[in-house]
Amino acid sequence: MSSTSELPDPSTEPPAFMDLGLRPELLAALAALGYEEPTPIQREAIPPLLAGRDLLGQAATGTGKTAAFALPLLQRMPDDRAGDDPLALVLVPTRELAVQVSEAFHRYGKDLGARVLPIYGGQPIGRQLRALDSGVDVVVATPGRALDHIARGTLRLGNLATVVLDEADEMLDMGFAEDIEAILEHAPEQRQTVLFSATMPARIDGMARAHLTEPVRILIAREQPVAGEAPRVRQSAYLVARAHKPAALGRVLDVESPTAAIVFCRSREEVDRLTETMNGRGYRAEALHGGMSQEQRDRVMGRLRAGTADLLVATDVAARGLDVEQLSHVVNFDVPSAPESYVHRIGRVGRAGREGVAITLAEPREHRMLKTIERVTGQRITIDKIPTVADLRTRRLELTQAALRESLLEDDLDPFRVIVETLSDEFDLMEVALAAVKLAHEATLPGSDEAEEEIPQVAIRPARSGRDSRPGQDLRTDRRPSRARTSGTTQVFIGLGRRAGVRPQDLVGAITGETGIRGRDIGSIEIADRFSLVEVPVAVADEVIAGLRGSTIKGRKATVRRDRDEHR
Ligand code: AMP
Repeated sequence: MSSTSELPDPSTEPPAFMDLGLRPELLAALAALGYEEPTPIQREAIPPLLAGRDLLGQAATGTGKTAAFALPLLQRMPDDRAGDDPLALVLVPTRELAVQVSEAFHRYGKDLGARVLPIYGGQPIGRQLRALDSGVDVVVATPGRALDHIARGTLRLGNLATVVLDEADEMLDMGFAEDIEAILEHAPEQRQTVLFSATMPARIDGMARAHLTEPVRILIAREQPVAGEAPRVRQSAYLVARAHKPAALGRVLDVESPTAAIVFCRSREEVDRLTETMNGRGYRAEALHGGMSQEQRDRVMGRLRAGTADLLVATDVAARGLDVEQLSHVVNFDVPSAPESYVHRIGRVGRAGREGVAITLAEPREHRMLKTIERVTGQRITIDKIPTVADLRTRRLELTQAALRESLLEDDLDPFRVIVETLSDEFDLMEVALAAVKLAHEATLPGSDEAEEEIPQVAIRPARSGRDSRPGQDLRTDRRPSRARTSGTTQVFIGLGRRAGVRPQDLVGAITGETGIRGRDIGSIEIADRFSLVEVPVAVADEVIAGLRGSTIKGRKATVRRDRDEHR
């Protein structure tokens, strides 16, 4: 739990990136990105990976797992490397993740001159061939396309020092097991193998036993309760797309009207950006991060205590040991990287019998991490709907009403009696009251809500068959996905079926390989003799159709269109 002193206690300080043995080029890259300290998975994974050990890690998106394997891998690349064949291969389930992971490698490894290449289905193969030909250090690939290149002889694995299987459970669910086996057969026996998976079903365990040697095991989602009890505060979360997060934060704060709130971000960069955005939206927000001097930080804290600032936007490091009496709300702008961090953050409110509120803004893909936090803390996080413009209007009227009530109770209204009496000669008393309320409303809550736009609600991604019992799928939400045809989805007709040897995994593989869609977005799959039907979200149906038209399934071109039920 947080201490009440302003200064952090050095004996309990977690290790910094520097303590993990990372080289200066990487430390500089992390500092430039505004990462202040390693996340728990990074703390545990980086030292053994630097030492060359195999590793089996259970970690979901949002824990910082990408940097946990990318940093050691970059560090282990020899400075004087000869040859153009890759030293590392990272296998990921989707195109989206391939791009994301290779961007992370670029960001961390640019001072080391690392050459990183994502390869996935859907991208013209010619460009990939040229890039592979001119030499790469790290390849981040979806299994199908990697195998394609291996078969063509354009991806040679003879020099691999490390293979990473990222989101391995997802890859197995998508039917990539055989492809992965085939790829690993081409990799040298003497290599480092790293496997990350959000869940640890028996199949993953089997895969680890077959391909990892005496791995270090890391379990970030520990089942036992965290030390110290989580405080009793109202805890809720909103699922919102990244692009809408600042607007959602503003909306939620408007409705909650906190006395004082602290908003936690992952990096300095994000703190600065969000502070600016929130100031632009009319909040009195102050930034607090590790890059500021003690004097600057004291000034910020002074403003918060004096009530001249109402929002503190901070990193974990900067807020460590912070105790603010007035704090009523803690907001996680991102899902924290570990349950411990969540508990620590929300421990800043709800003290000494005061009421506290903890709010988390989660991207849909981070919902599993929320579930983990619920399990570890033994406390419930309610998924709420982002307030609508109508909710906001209602709330503003309530605030005006409360202010008027207070004024009526204070009984110092005499100086205004003459105005009401004069006006009542001319107008009805009710009319006079209404005009006064309108003025009070506009004066206390400047800014009109007419410019407010609705923030799109997002739901947890629908579960596919056989995966309904996975953690995270049963978060309490009023938009729980159903197994039946879900609203907002449509069926795509593909003119190849059982006779052409089509299996569900072929369709999932083709769709995820050719588009930016993840396996878990795909709904039910029906395979008939001569055709197949795949349920996909309406919003991406055109992309799916275009992707499938441009590719082959089981080596054949297929008719692909929106289903019109005419074959039934
Ligand atoms: P991942 O779990 O790998 O998808 O990472 C989640 C997010 O956390 C990414 O946006 C990373 O850029 C960010 N991140 C990873 N490690 C850190 C860190 N030590 N400090 C701040 N942000 C981080």
